[in-house]
Amino acid sequence: MRCRKCGERAVINMRHHKLALCGEHYVEWFAAQTERAIEKYAMFSREERVLVAVSGGKDSLALWDVLLRLGYQADGLYIALGINAPIPYSDVSLEKAQKFVANGNWRVTKEDALPAPRPTLHVVDIAATYGKTIPEIARAKMRGQGRPCAACGLTKRYVMNRLALEQGYAVLATGHNLDDEIAVLFQNTLHWQMGYLARQAPVLPASREGLVKKVKPLCRFYERETATYALVRGIDYIYDECPHATGNLTNFYKTLLNQLETESPGAKLSFYLEFLRARDEGAFEAFNRTEELHACEVCGQPTSAPGRCAFCRMWDVSR
Ligand code: SF4
Ligand SMILES: [Zn+2]
Ligand SMILES: [Zn+2]
Repeated sequence: MRCRKCGERAVINMRHHKLALCGEHYVEWFAAQTERAIEKYAMFSREERVLVAVSGGKDSLALWDVLLRLGYQADGLYIALGINAPIPYSDVSLEKAQKFVANGNWRVTKEDALPAPRPTLHVVDIAATYGKTIPEIARAKMRGQGRPCAACGLTKRYVMNRLALEQGYAVLATGHNLDDEIAVLFQNTLHWQMGYLARQAPVLPASREGLVKKVKPLCRFYERETATYALVRGIDYIYDECPHATGNLTNFYKTLLNQLETESPGAKLSFYLEFLRARDEGAFEAFNRTEELHACEVCGQPTSAPGRCAFCRMWDVSR
């Protein structure tokens, strides 16, 4: 398979786009597509500071890399969850994020470009800050419920929102790819979770005070495409998934949807884009309720019920 632009050997063949590209032209194409998504969904401008949620995996490091190369002011946030059994997942993923900043490959190489300032990597160590790792708090608070994902998700959302606001970032960017988005979309559609469907979008505006704007610039890329970008760019990322992700429902849906894609190339992309079109046309408008929010009596972050927020209740934070 040859690159459509230059005839060199292609590193990827995207059947859904009928496009094969070599490494150099693929990196160019990936950056241009990212820029188009940022502009189409009015995610952020070059004047705004962006905080990228970095896990050490391919998607978040690919996102950070492409934003820096496009000249955006992007810093990273790594949350050390303390998940180090049965594999040292958290320790290795932190090393990958630190290495990404240290090796400087993200620097723009065009001769006419201004030298990019070194991006900052914020690290929030959950155990050092709140006294327990994620598996420990999950064991203490959710006895016998298996996976620590509920405690982990709540903690990550809280820490990301709080740090972005406190450090004055205009927007929080996550590396969700198309496969992540449609696995959630499929799950929400199976159960007709209209409220969730109404809120699933490439951009979640900062609808209220205390909530940062959230964006997903890679949401139209297949997982294979972000992985190829990371490989061609020489990004060293953690290959292992979090050990608690093994066998979860999302991965099961991803497998089902991959079967569909094999039979019908482009099915995943059109499922997502047609959903966004229906959403834009107001299909879920009636379910987009804005519930009343209160300020948590301890930390001041927005919460749906008066009193302490879910985070402060779980972590036993009091005044
Ligand atoms: S799989 Fe669960 S525990 Fe692991 S990072 Fe994701 S939410 Fe957290
Ligand atoms: Zn080429
Ligand atoms: Zn609180």
